[in-house]
Amino acid sequence: MTAPALPAVQFRVDVGRLDDHHFDIAMELADAPARLTVSLPVWIPGSYLVREFSRHLSGLSAERDGRPARLTPLDKHRWAVEAPGSGPLRLRYRVYAFDNSVRSAWLDRQRGFFNGSSLFLSAEGFEEREQQVRLDGLPSGWEVATGLPGTVDGGWCAPNYDNLIDHPFELGPFWRGRFEACGVSHEFVVAGAPPGFDGERLLADTRRICEAQLRFWHGEAPACFDRYVFLLNAVDDGYGGLEHRNSTALICNRRDLPRRIAAPANGSTPSAPPASDGYVTLLGLISHEYFHTWNVKRLKPAEFAPYRLDAEQYTELLWFFEGFTSYYDDLFLLRAGLVDEARYLKLLAKNLNQVLGSPGRAVQSVAEASFDAWIKYYRPDENSANATVSYYTKGSLVALALDLTLRGEDCGDLDAVMRRLWQVASERSGSAGGPITEADIAEALQAVAGRSLAPVLAAWVHGRNELPLQALLQRGGVRWNREAPTLAQRLGARLQEAPGGPKVQAVLDGGLAATLGLAAGDELLALGGWRLAKVDDLTLYGAFDAEQPQTLLVSRDRRLLSLTLPAMAGTVEGAVSLTVDPQPDPQALQRRARWWSRTGA
Ligand SMILES: [Zn+2]
Repeated sequence: MTAPALPAVQFRVDVGRLDDHHFDIAMELADAPARLTVSLPVWIPGSYLVREFSRHLSGLSAERDGRPARLTPLDKHRWAVEAPGSGPLRLRYRVYAFDNSVRSAWLDRQRGFFNGSSLFLSAEGFEEREQQVRLDGLPSGWEVATGLPGTVDGGWCAPNYDNLIDHPFELGPFWRGRFEACGVSHEFVVAGAPPGFDGERLLADTRRICEAQLRFWHGEAPACFDRYVFLLNAVDDGYGGLEHRNSTALICNRRDLPRRIAAPANGSTPSAPPASDGYVTLLGLISHEYFHTWNVKRLKPAEFAPYRLDAEQYTELLWFFEGFTSYYDDLFLLRAGLVDEARYLKLLAKNLNQVLGSPGRAVQSVAEASFDAWIKYYRPDENSANATVSYYTKGSLVALALDLTLRGEDCGDLDAVMRRLWQVASERSGSAGGPITEADIAEALQAVAGRSLAPVLAAWVHGRNELPLQALLQRGGVRWNREAPTLAQRLGARLQEAPGGPKVQAVLDGGLAATLGLAAGDELLALGGWRLAKVDDLTLYGAFDAEQPQTLLVSRDRRLLSLTLPAMAGTVEGAVSLTVDPQPDPQALQRRARWWSRTGA
């Protein structure tokens, strides 16, 4: 009998340095050539910004057969290794881990977390070889959660580098729960949960989302994965998620977690309180990342096959992969019975108002926004609202508009389009999902609609005009209402509370604030002789409600500016609110019922 062959690449991660927040890493290559290049990714798939993970790597050394190897840095993230010999090549380095996000790595006395893109060097020529991870020095009482198959004793194995770095690890004394959905085993891990956390409710609600989505994509057929892991980090103030092939890393506000309620004194079972807005936001995030399991992790932009992690990788399709996922995330809360119709329409209106409140929607198309994600969406500044549109929110409205177009003509729906794309891509690639292009999306729309929607798709994705949503929603049995404009809307600015008084966050193109000469960062000190302490004080002291124009005293870089606020603001539209049309025509009623039904059919 021969011993089983060792994986070609082995990593040992020492978790012991909790207080100085470093992972010590030993990497071993069994049969390395005399010369090779090692590198660390500069970005992590799913988060389109060059983050230069190698800036946290230090102390790199290498040896072979007891002799030090020669290391030459080639650029910011690659090193040449020269090490003649026959024994295994051993590299050592450490990675600083103190970024409390889902994108890189963290280590302290409370918990550890890492993405492989922050910790594991890629060895040239070894990318397709088996990679193994072992953890050393795990503090007592700590557990490990990851979607990668393996155990603490035996280590974890990935068939290649791409797979290795698509499985984040959570380490610590976390809360852990499990459930089954459509034959797939799911694990939910929560770090930082407060004592009254209601884990059972989180599991039950998440399970409903998973079942609805598994049935959406696979019907009664087996799913394309057999295990899934949610890694949630509950913090004082934070929000975000990153999708992976059979797991997701999430971050949420601790107070948004569901809480157990005390049993009434009479011994009866307490009824669950309605979900808080924060909890609905968390469920929406869970739904979003889970939907990505199909839409971007398996169906993916053709440009991302394969990922290249040494520089920006451009695609015009994030409006589809992020936007359509954003459309379905809230829709699945409704279809799974976790929010009612009124609440769903509030979530929809919030997206709508975010787009309508950004003049940049007339400047940038969602295809352009996708392409420029690296320099615009991920690098927002005070001018973003004027120059950019979000491929998340406007992309979700394109999905809504397409869905309502199909449903309004009673010729299918977007659900059928998504499933057709899945089927076409899977047949083409011979696996679950696969790369797709905009032409594939147009083809799937045509197949479902029975006529070409290419001109409509091109106008909505590459154009900058308004989407005809009011009419489309009406045909779907939803009423579009306008609220009275808020003070900030009348002013044409985004305002924020600050210690010294209200502050201008952004000035919107074409609005009154722009005409007056206000700028981002301006402190609003006084109006008509009244000292302002809060944003609301502008209303209290009569902005747009005085007989005469008023003097607005502003501070910019410690210089005082005196501006004249007119007595009346121009005509400005308020936010949109959406309500269920109480008396729709019978067809609209039927369409709405199908759109929101649990099966979506
Ligand atoms: Zn997303």
